[in-house]
Amino acid sequence: MPELTRREFLKLGAGGAAGIAVVGNPLGFDLKAAKKRQIESRITGAKESKSICPYCAVGCALIAYTKQVNGKTEILQIEGDPDSPVNEGRLCPKGASAMQLATSSRRVEHPMYRAPGSTKWEVKDWDFVLDKIAQNIKASRDNTFVAQDASGNVVNRTEGIAFAGGAAFSSEEGYFATKVMRGLGVVHLEQQARV
Ligand code: SF4
Repeated sequence: MPELTRREFLKLGAGGAAGIAVVGNPLGFDLKAAKKRQIESRITGAKESKSICPYCAVGCALIAYTKQVNGKTEILQIEGDPDSPVNEGRLCPKGASAMQLATSSRRVEHPMYRAPGSTKWEVKDWDFVLDKIAQNIKASRDNTFVAQDASGNVVNRTEGIAFAGGAAFSSEEGYFATKVMRGLGVVHLEQQARV
C-alpha cells in the first residue's frame, strides 16, 4: 500500500469520496470490487413481504425477502421493518432468529406421534392427530370434571386440562380460544405472551 502523508490523510477526511478521487485512492481500496459486491447483494431483486414476529405480544414488524428458485419460494433474509412504529427496524435475539422457523434443518414438518409405552416417534397425518387430540380432551374432561366443589357450590369445571394460547394470536383468535376452553369448563388458561 502506498505511503499516506498527513496532508493526504486530512484531504481524504475532508473531501470524502471526492478526496479519494483527488489523491488517487491512496488507501488502496478496491472500489470496483466494493461496487460489484453492493450490486450483488443477496436481497437484490427479492420480493419484500411484511409480517409480524410470532414470538411475543410486542408484535415487532418483520420484512421477509424471498425469491423464486426452480419454482419454489426461497427465503433469503428476515429482518426488522424500519417503517414499524413498534420496533423501528429492531428485533430482539429471538425475533432475529425468525428465519430459522422456516429454514432450520431441525424443523419438524409433519405431525409426530409416540404411542403410549412406545420409544419411537411416528409420522402421522393431520386427521389422525386431530382425532387423537379430540379423544384425549374428551377422556381428560370426563375423568376430571368437577360439578360441585367441597362446599356443594356448582362449579362445572375441568381441572385436568390446561390451555396456553400462542403469542401470535390475533384478538379474535384469543377470544375464540377462550370461549371454546371456557365452554369445556377449563379454568387453567394462560397466554404465551405472559409466560
Ligand atoms: S420476540 Fe422479540 S422481536 Fe419478536 S415480537 Fe417479541 S420483542 Fe419483538
